[in-house]
Amino acid sequence: MSRSIGIDLGTTYSAVAYIDDFGKPMIIKNADGQTTTPSAVYIDTPVYVVGEVALQSTLSDPDRVVQFIKRFMGVPNYRARVGEQSYSPEFISSLILRKLVNEAENALGESISSAVITVPAYFTEAQRQATYEAAQLAGLQVMRIINEPTAAALNYGVTNRGRNSKILVYDLGGGTFDVTVLEVRDDALAVIGVGGDAQLGGKDFDERVMNYVEEQVRENYGEDMQIDNFVEAELRLKAEGAKRQLSGRNSVPITFKAKRVLETERGPVDTYIPVRVELSREKLESLTNDLLSRTELLLNNVLYKSGLKWSDIDEVLCVGGSSKMPMVREMLTRVTGKKPVMQDPDECVALGAAVQAGLLVGDSALQPIKINHVLSHSLGVATVRDGKTVIDQTIPALTPLPCVHLRDNYTTSVDNQTTLQISIFEGESEDPDAYANGPIGTFELDSSPPRPKGQPQISVEFRCDENGRIVAVARDADTGRESRTLISLSATRGAKESELESQMLAEAIIC
Ligand code: ADP
Ligand code: MG
Repeated sequence: MSRSIGIDLGTTYSAVAYIDDFGKPMIIKNADGQTTTPSAVYIDTPVYVVGEVALQSTLSDPDRVVQFIKRFMGVPNYRARVGEQSYSPEFISSLILRKLVNEAENALGESISSAVITVPAYFTEAQRQATYEAAQLAGLQVMRIINEPTAAALNYGVTNRGRNSKILVYDLGGGTFDVTVLEVRDDALAVIGVGGDAQLGGKDFDERVMNYVEEQVRENYGEDMQIDNFVEAELRLKAEGAKRQLSGRNSVPITFKAKRVLETERGPVDTYIPVRVELSREKLESLTNDLLSRTELLLNNVLYKSGLKWSDIDEVLCVGGSSKMPMVREMLTRVTGKKPVMQDPDECVALGAAVQAGLLVGDSALQPIKINHVLSHSLGVATVRDGKTVIDQTIPALTPLPCVHLRDNYTTSVDNQTTLQISIFEGESEDPDAYANGPIGTFELDSSPPRPKGQPQISVEFRCDENGRIVAVARDADTGRESRTLISLSATRGAKESELESQMLAEAIIC
């Protein structure tokens, strides 16, 4: 049996874990001895440096380092530019995955071909698909894509067996926020509520600090102080470091070099002047209060949608590096009336992914537990009602995966219509305008021969696999004609680009 691993592919930090011979999930340390690896890539094609070295390279080569790529997964046509070249989010992510797998292979002394990969629970179809493709590009067989809070709960449940409880997972990472309510029983884990914001995380807190420090520098050192790319890179590292320190201290100085252009006889000269700004925890909290409030709102929202009260929740589990901020725990205690549990917030997602991998290969050292994965967002079909396009919600969010759903009440809207366009939407609204990114999949069904409007009986069937990947099949009951789409396949890349990137990856030197 080949070893299978679990990978937490994070916005800011990633981690990888495996199951040891005693059935215990273990983090695999990287070559630097760290349990997590920065999701930063320094690019000098064909050399790609991933991790701490890349992160530190932002100081000398800010324009050659790609960071926070997870924020762009599934965004159509997004490319990270470095020099003359540009790279898809899938490609950058595959480099990070490859690096983690290489580290795991070195540490375990065996080759690894398959993995469970985690994604935020609130990730959309396109984002999941992009993650899947990144893994394929990295040469990995995807055993399963699972939600990060489910992984965290799985790890928690495995290490705290024997208790039946409802747990709420609050996961505030570097780039995303997830909240999930799960029910844990001895032999099963079920998701009963999901919510979040895929564009909210520690990075946003860092940016508040950066803006504040910039203001302070201008105020204290002069309006002519400038922040260029080099200054910004240093400020970003220092701001993030200060924010972390403030989880344990009341005040920290932030020191870095800011730019001032001096007019000399030889023309303008850039000078870099050391500056210092003091940041207190209180100030950090007031600068980011609204971000924390957003998580509070989403938290209450998920509980409400789950039909639960705080007294129904037995355990509040804190996950993600940003939940180490004291303000998070204070808010959670105030809102939930419970003291939140914090257990390996940086590692528990990767550990849980390893448990899932072990369960999938039937690792006999693991006690079996059944996991009920669910669809995070509702799916619907665009239909015309009274001349207006509305979304017909077909599969509700939280439907257990895998699932098959059939709706057969569709038809044509004009006489002699010979093609029918079918658009699939993901989300919780009837209004198509509420979907900023439009439909997640559109395809056509040949509805000939010409018939009066309303006569053809068209069905749309959705098939969702365990990973939450979806195929939609439209069928004309009279003619038997069928048409299908794999939703958001190659959402951001064409076939040609995929091929080119596979080749680039094959030639890549990843270190
Ligand atoms: P992701 O998986 O989204 O990359 P992580 O769960 O690894 O995120 O968390 C990384 C985030 O946590 C970063 O924004 C980092 O600044 C923040 N973080 C890590 N440790 C601390 C700490 N002690 N106090 C405050 N924030 C922290
Ligand atoms: Mg994370």
